[in-house]
Amino acid sequence: MEPTMHVLDPEGDTLLTLASPNPPFVTSYSLWRIALPQYNTWETRNKERLLWTAPDESVKIFTTDLTIKMQLSSKHLKLASDYFRTMMAGNNWKESTPKDGFSFSVTANGWNEEALLTVMRILHGRTKVIPRTISLEKLAKIAVVIDYYNLHEAIDFSAKEWIYNLKEPPPTSFGRTLLLRFLVSWVFSEVYTFRQLSKIIIQESRGPVNAQSLPIPKAIIDALDQKRQELVSGVISGLESLQGKLREIPGECVFDCSAMTLGALMIDMKTMGLDPLPKSPFHGYSFMTLKECVENIQEPSYNHINHKTSQPVRQSIANRYEYSKPEPRSCSLMAKINSIINEQLGKIDGLDLNSFIDRS
Ligand SMILES: [Zn+2]
Repeated sequence: MEPTMHVLDPEGDTLLTLASPNPPFVTSYSLWRIALPQYNTWETRNKERLLWTAPDESVKIFTTDLTIKMQLSSKHLKLASDYFRTMMAGNNWKESTPKDGFSFSVTANGWNEEALLTVMRILHGRTKVIPRTISLEKLAKIAVVIDYYNLHEAIDFSAKEWIYNLKEPPPTSFGRTLLLRFLVSWVFSEVYTFRQLSKIIIQESRGPVNAQSLPIPKAIIDALDQKRQELVSGVISGLESLQGKLREIPGECVFDCSAMTLGALMIDMKTMGLDPLPKSPFHGYSFMTLKECVENIQEPSYNHINHKTSQPVRQSIANRYEYSKPEPRSCSLMAKINSIINEQLGKIDGLDLNSFIDRS
């Protein structure tokens, strides 16, 4: 097939050849194991299903026969990026070998043509043709190119405008959109968005995030999963420790109350699939699903029990009960479960982008 030539500088001394352009972009995803499937919400399941289904623009017919060429200026490239400066200074770099009358010949593989062209147009000052608004999908494809060639600074102004003008609302649960937006927040150093989105991933993921070909460093993937495991582990240890405390004599409340609470807890855990309790690294368990699971624990009827204390505690998880319903006693199973969950909810925080930056 005849290559397409984009001339960004008619006097340009550099030929960039892009082979196998426009490969499918984030179209498959190896899903995690599903633990406690009955407590995965419809929204969670739907978002995960969509991870497999990229929008049409991402799965255009892909052929490796196509080649795209761009006539570029080495001066602009070297000014914009250390990557090109280093590459063009060395004679043996495989990506930069002179041919076809050009001083430099750069080869690239597998980028999205429009994303690469947009980036090169900005580097060559052809900003009139640059759109002020682009989709998240396109922005993510551009982010991949920028990250590879270390063009963060050169594209910073346009990137800020694109992000500001994004039409897609910020994602509120894990899925393909969140993965793309998370990548954009990482590449363009959006500290707040990165923290907020990582918080969602920490709560909703059920294992290490499979970033596929997206340039999200392993240190970030590991940190996200570490935090997920800590939350899940916090709930699991809370349940273990609750069982231990209910076995103690004298207990917090009278024998009948402790015995009923312990019995109900053990039966509930067995019914819900938490007996035996899962072990680290808790593959398949998300904090949100585990929370949903334990909040569905069935309480015994404490009506006939003469409790040590008669004061009910204030309801701590919002919207769990109607206001007309009585608040659970501090010795009740639900109050104990709420306390375990609240302790972990108080610990949830997203990642600090600055602690992963090494772009000096
Ligand atoms: Zn009691």
